[in-house]
Amino acid sequence: MTEINSLSDIVKNGLCIGCGLCQSIAGKDKIEISMSDKGRLEPKELNKIPSETFNKIINVCPGVIVEGLPKEQVDTKAKHDLVWGYYLSLFYAWSTDDKIRFESSTGGLLNGLSLYLLESKKVKFILHTVATPDKPMRSVSKLSYNKEELLNSNSCSRYGPASPLDKFHEALNLNQPFAFVGKPCDISAIRQLSKTDERVNNLCKYLLTLVCGGSTEFTKSQDFIESFKVKEEELSIFRYRGFGNPGRMYIKTKDGREYDREYNSFWGEESTWRVHFRCKICPDAIGESSDIAALDTWRGGSPKGEDEGFNAAIVRTKKGYDLLNEAVNAGYIKIGDQLEIKDIDDFQPHQINRKKAVYARHLGLKKSDVPTLNTKGLRIKKLYEMNDNEFNLKEEEGISSRIKKI
Ligand SMILES: Cc1cc2nc3c(=O)[nH]c(=O)nc-3n(C[C@H](O)[C@H](O)[C@H](O)COP(=O)(O)OP(=O)(O)OC[C@H]3O[C@@H](n4cnc5c(N)ncnc54)[C@H](O)[C@@H]3O)c2cc1C
Ligand code: SF4
Ligand code: SF4
Repeated sequence: MTEINSLSDIVKNGLCIGCGLCQSIAGKDKIEISMSDKGRLEPKELNKIPSETFNKIINVCPGVIVEGLPKEQVDTKAKHDLVWGYYLSLFYAWSTDDKIRFESSTGGLLNGLSLYLLESKKVKFILHTVATPDKPMRSVSKLSYNKEELLNSNSCSRYGPASPLDKFHEALNLNQPFAFVGKPCDISAIRQLSKTDERVNNLCKYLLTLVCGGSTEFTKSQDFIESFKVKEEELSIFRYRGFGNPGRMYIKTKDGREYDREYNSFWGEESTWRVHFRCKICPDAIGESSDIAALDTWRGGSPKGEDEGFNAAIVRTKKGYDLLNEAVNAGYIKIGDQLEIKDIDDFQPHQINRKKAVYARHLGLKKSDVPTLNTKGLRIKKLYEMNDNEFNLKEEEGISSRIKKI
């Protein structure tokens, strides 16, 4: 079975990342999104989706199709790297607001840019992802119109399941300019939608993303709180990071008990990350089709201690370039030293490994008669051809052996 004929084909083959765009297209009366036993947000067809609507979904769903930066967005001055794609510039950057910098994930680049966009009135609102009120271990999409709304509900790295696009059509229907901040797979889905819905490019003015190691299943967060004998309903605060860089994993209960653990202890070795299956075959976790991608800058890929928070910015489009410069001139963002691709390689070794491995993983799925993603403009085949055979075979066989766990 290598074809996708229904929503459940996407879900049961591990291709769904739970982004929520299908629900936003079809409506809540047709599709429900709920937490599965595996700890993933999964859509379920409540009422038969008309075939026309289903066709719209499979043309945008990041579990079906992923493409690189649209040609018309590639600036004439853009450089290109086989792993990292198109970029106009690379440098350290962070928010000039000490509170944002401290409380955000890395240096608050994404929240700082979002704040600039709101306060300069370039957009009316930001569509982003925050902690669910009263259920801080869960995430929810949010339209924020001012600084207070933007920053009051843990709008920083939320590694667990989220549906950042479930309100995307609601946002479009408001007919006001806005910016979207989300994961690379979310951005890719928006770019696909922009091919058939002209409101997307007219209204969604900026696409900002984070370089993404993968979205963890909810069970990983559950295990974390259970290790302190805390139940979800007792939580008042749940943070994956932030309040420092990286900051500690931190929880507080409604009756005032506090527990925390080092960031590295949650992540540890890559095989224990417990990310969604879709993330293991992700052909673009580096935000190739965004305007700006923000990332961590720990040499070797993981933090050795705390620092003040230094993002790197991969500026991909002219629009992203202008935005960053304007935000710097307006005093919202501080830029540090310029970086080179070899620095980005050093900060993100796991991204290089995945980008090189992913085509072999797709082949492994195809050979096992399991559907996989359609990709274009992401160079994964070229990278595969440059690998040695042993590496490719190991990746192909490795993914085939995981199919039972999808
Ligand atoms: C799932 C996930 C995986 C990550 N993997 C990597 C990695 O491999 N390498 C790396 O350098 N950094 C990774 N990060 C961390 C992130 O890249 C850094 O936070 C980045 O440097 C941005 O920092 P910042 O301080 O500018 O972000 P902030 O200013 O704190 O802003 C973070 C923004 O991300 C949005 N957001 C948070 N969680 C989600 C979500 N689940 N879905 C959609 N939007 C979300 C928030 O709404 C907010 O707008 C990951 C984050 C997430 C959520
Ligand atoms: S990846 Fe997104 S659009 Fe595709 S099925 Fe899952 S929730 Fe729906
Ligand atoms: S690894 Fe890819 S599929 Fe997984 S959350 Fe990140 S961008 Fe999305």
